[in-house]
Amino acid sequence: MGNGQKTVLVTGGAGYIGSHAVLCLQQRGYRVIVLDNLVYGHRDIAENVLKVELIVGNTGDRPLLDKIFQDYDIDAVMHFAAYTYVGESVTQPERYYRNNVVGTLTLLEAMLAANVKAFVFSSTCATYGEPQIIPIPEEHPQNPINPYGVSKLMVEQILRDFDHAHAFRSVMFRYFNAAGADPAGNLGEDHDPETHLIPLVFMTALGRRESISMFGTDYPTPDGTCVRDYIHVSDLADAHVLGLEYLLDGGATDAFNLGNGSGFSVKEVIEMSRKISGKEIPAIATDRRAGDPPALVGSSEKAKKTLGWQPKYADLEAILTHAWQWHTKRHSV
Ligand code: UDP
Repeated sequence: MGNGQKTVLVTGGAGYIGSHAVLCLQQRGYRVIVLDNLVYGHRDIAENVLKVELIVGNTGDRPLLDKIFQDYDIDAVMHFAAYTYVGESVTQPERYYRNNVVGTLTLLEAMLAANVKAFVFSSTCATYGEPQIIPIPEEHPQNPINPYGVSKLMVEQILRDFDHAHAFRSVMFRYFNAAGADPAGNLGEDHDPETHLIPLVFMTALGRRESISMFGTDYPTPDGTCVRDYIHVSDLADAHVLGLEYLLDGGATDAFNLGNGSGFSVKEVIEMSRKISGKEIPAIATDRRAGDPPALVGSSEKAKKTLGWQPKYADLEAILTHAWQWHTKRHSV
């Protein structure tokens, strides 16, 4: 494949999306070093499942970063480390700006000092705010409505400025709703606290929660519940490796949506999860959650055309089946 064993530093590689990206990189023959502060990441996943070299620390720790860039001959960085709870970002914005913006800027400065200038960044569809058109294209105005989205947009802007000033190239991926799990069953979603719909639905199926709340049933959508574009985490991981290869081949700084281009409502997710699990999954209608747009669906044509990305599990059934496999395995031991 001609990559002559490149070395990639993956921040947040012990977390949900990062761990799937590490697996994908390893499968394609890259040497991987993980930097993770283990606030939300899992040591066990890094050390025992991925068997990857794990450095425990923060992206804001400049001396540690300088040492990492000295010790390893790093070709590129994939940056997943971030806080991602929208609600918490509203009540504690300082945490989000400190970690997501200042931490990232420190990492970028350390990269510049080490002359490493290829960067794959986890951005988010939350940078768009309320969609004006669906499916959302990359040129859509970016008006985030919470500090989490703002923190990611700030980094996107920093990356464009770094490109102009320093020929520092990056690929920014704006994810829609990451879901599912490694089809082989070794990795999956394990947040604490868990706030995402699909894990909570399956925790309910397993009797670990009494019911799943549907946040709002009076939205202007076909069945009144919110519509989201769910994208398989292994497909996301795949896109990251393609983005990395694009940069290593000299590709220009750019932003790409990653979604499936089709939306599913909260009710549809619950209904299909009932079929897949064979469980009842009690659901109750509750109030809307603040900051939830009625529908978020992205166009990912650009990633397909430019990066040659082709999602393998582009249907909700596969996503939910893999998530269910993971949850049953995880909670049966
Ligand atoms: N949701 C819900 N009940 C829950 C958690 C989420 O109805 O317990 C809804 C939420 O309002 C949103 C969708 O499910 O419309 C997906 O939410 P999630 O938190 O998984 O991802 P987000 O869209 O916030 O990134």
